[in-house]
Amino acid sequence: AQQLGAAIKAESEVFDVAPIGPPDGSGGYTVRFQSSTAFFKKKQSLTARGVVFAGGVLGTVPLLLKLKQSSLPGLSDRVGYGIRTNNESLIAITTVDKDKDLSKGVAISSILHTDQYSHLEPVRYSAGSGFWRLLVLPMAHGGNTLSRLGKIAWDWLSRPLANLKVAFVDDWAKRTQTLLFMQTLDSTLRFQRGWLGGMRSRLDKGPAPSAFIPEAESLAKQYGKLINGKPTSLALEPLLGIPSTAHILGGAVMGKDASEGVIDKDNRVFGYQNMLVCDGSMISANPGVNPSLSITAISERAMGKVEGKGRALAGQG
Ligand SMILES: Cc1cc2nc3c(=O)[nH]c(=O)nc-3n(C[C@H](O)[C@H](O)[C@H](O)COP(=O)(O)OP(=O)(O)OC[C@H]3O[C@@H](n4cnc5c(N)ncnc54)[C@H](O)[C@@H]3O)c2cc1C
Repeated sequence: AQQLGAAIKAESEVFDVAPIGPPDGSGGYTVRFQSSTAFFKKKQSLTARGVVFAGGVLGTVPLLLKLKQSSLPGLSDRVGYGIRTNNESLIAITTVDKDKDLSKGVAISSILHTDQYSHLEPVRYSAGSGFWRLLVLPMAHGGNTLSRLGKIAWDWLSRPLANLKVAFVDDWAKRTQTLLFMQTLDSTLRFQRGWLGGMRSRLDKGPAPSAFIPEAESLAKQYGKLINGKPTSLALEPLLGIPSTAHILGGAVMGKDASEGVIDKDNRVFGYQNMLVCDGSMISANPGVNPSLSITAISERAMGKVEGKGRALAGQG
């Protein structure tokens, strides 16, 4: 993109996109942004003939929800709908055996299909990548917060040495096998703006995603035995029963028209000219697998349909 003249404005957060002249954006847009890192945020702006939203679900969807109430009222009422996860469970199993090094090799290179909806991916992190250890607690599924805290306390009391060894393991990534269990089973959430501009989520369709998937728990326990390790989950799961996802999708999804989606099949925003959404918020189904290559491929396809330099960028001359 830089070779074709694009300037990258790092550490800049867009907070407004407003049409210049005609309300459908055919006269271009004013894009307002500010530093995403500075304490005192100087507001800046630029003008553009077209805009591509690519802030990811947690960037694009809150921005579009805000702009629908201000500069872009013509956005579809479907903004915020169709938020999905891969219905997943992330479990990290830490071994106490110092002769095991689980960090070598490609991050994800195998998949175990456990039924027609579900599969498990063993995930590796490279040696030294240990930040996650601060975020996990021993795996405790089911029941309520009190019963899960009771399970964790009992585990610590009955196996204090093993728990201490796991908590203070020398290199978390070397001694940890992460298991990523995902399902194609579908349900959707809806994001809305709260009173103070924050985000709220509520269940829209289907069963609520759960932090506790029995098959994932059983596989983690079996794997734990194999590597002499202890399964741990992200702390919000045992503490509050809130499921975690690394694969949030949707919120500005494709549809036939504005009553069904926010963008058309070529990623163009309904109601506006020269405006696209090219990130995970465009995805309108639960693929049940890690989505970044699909996001990249669909974005590349959409950019290939933009006249001018975008076509060259997407390799279509
Ligand atoms: C721990 C972890 C592991 C993962 N592993 C895998 C994997 O192995 N394989 C896989 O396929 N997927 C994986 N994923 C998922 C994958 O990273 C995401 O699905 C993908 O990055 C989403 O792409 P995106 O373009 O929608 O958004 P992002 O990659 O999130 O990019 C959005 C960018 O926009 C910026 N932004 C947001 N708002 C604004 C704003 N207002 N103004 C300016 N900039 C803004 C953000 O800072 C960010 O840089 C993983 C995710 C996590 C969290």
